[in-house]
Amino acid sequence: MPYLLPLNFHEFSFTDKLLDGLDAMGFEKATPIQEQAIPLVLEGRDLIACAQTGTGKTAAYLLPILSKLTQTEGDKVRALIIAPTRELVQQIDQQVEGFAYFLGVSSIPVFGGGDGSAYEQQRRAFDTGADLVIATPGRLISHLISGTVDMSALEFLVLDEADRMLDMGFYEDIERIIQKLPTTRQTLLFSATMPPRIRDLAAKILKDPAQISLAISKPAANIVQQSYLAYDTQKTPLLQKILSSSDFQSALIFTSTKDKAKSLEKEMIRSGFEARAIHSDLDQKQREEVMLAFRNRQLKFLIGTDIVSRGIDVDGIELVVNYDVPPDPEDYIHRIGRTARAERNGIAITFISDKDGFKFKKIEELIEKEIPKFQVPASLGESPVLSTRPVGGGGRGGKGGGFKGKPKRRN
Ligand code: AMP
Repeated sequence: MPYLLPLNFHEFSFTDKLLDGLDAMGFEKATPIQEQAIPLVLEGRDLIACAQTGTGKTAAYLLPILSKLTQTEGDKVRALIIAPTRELVQQIDQQVEGFAYFLGVSSIPVFGGGDGSAYEQQRRAFDTGADLVIATPGRLISHLISGTVDMSALEFLVLDEADRMLDMGFYEDIERIIQKLPTTRQTLLFSATMPPRIRDLAAKILKDPAQISLAISKPAANIVQQSYLAYDTQKTPLLQKILSSSDFQSALIFTSTKDKAKSLEKEMIRSGFEARAIHSDLDQKQREEVMLAFRNRQLKFLIGTDIVSRGIDVDGIELVVNYDVPPDPEDYIHRIGRTARAERNGIAITFISDKDGFKFKKIEELIEKEIPKFQVPASLGESPVLSTRPVGGGGRGGKGGGFKGKPKRRN
């Protein structure tokens, strides 16, 4: 296939006001998912799109919807976007604000948490009317049940990160929401992966959908991927060495659990690093403060777990560290997709402990690439030796498999 130059946004039939919004946001050329999705959505097709974050998928559905919303007027909700986490809802809402700056299209972000006044504010916003609602499933259901929101004029439904919503147990909530929506509507489903459950959901809610699949499950080529073989006890000093080795302005560190995120935060602060952890024990205001500080570059190092950190849309993250190997290979792709967004370069480093050799091999199989593996610096002792047997799966003694050997201090 010949290489085609990316389309300039002016080549879509967007209104001048929308193009002004795009200019203001610094968007010039469409990304591949945008090039494929925008014409189909403008045509009115239902769509099932396999695309991971970092590909520009948000704009791929927002732009054609915004362009269509401006063509008629009304004070009822006309587009509904459902996304798994409040962070993602807020990021989508911010993109809407940017694109729609000159359009006069209104939007409401709807998510749970926060103090009791948040629900009240959302309820009042529904009374005033909004063209577009961006919501997490749980909170949206509360509003639908209490009758505060009228969906009778809905024209567009988007499910964003559908696979993650199902992973988080929102399947039934989504079904309940959809039962309350008009059946004549355009539905778009975006998902990073297409497991059978997503295909089933798509078959139920989409009509004759067009399908787009972008080279799924492959991290962007502009991410340099590396790994270190490190025992758990070596991970924090290793992280500190890495962060001190270069003048990183923005790094995201993933741990496997909330407790690890919290204890790593303490250790990092104690050692003089500007680090904060984001996790579900923080109230919403605290989470927003941490995210804002990270986004504004007041905070250099953010520590988090998959659920909270997913979809974090912060430009210019230079480094992603997987302090623990993600349990699900797909999560590896999501995590490292936080760096190198929109054509920039980024680095992703994974710490592989003595128990994680097998999990890491699964990741390499998924991305069809071997990731360079390094030993920890000599001052931290010896690295474990890589073994890719499943943990407890018939390895020596069936326990603690993955690596052989014990950590030894080198002098
Ligand atoms: P997404 O995959 O929607 O999370 O988008 C990833 C990042 O790329 C976001 O920061 C977007 O603002 C940015 N982005 C998306 N499309 C474009 C584009 N066509 N030009 C420049 N930046 C873009």
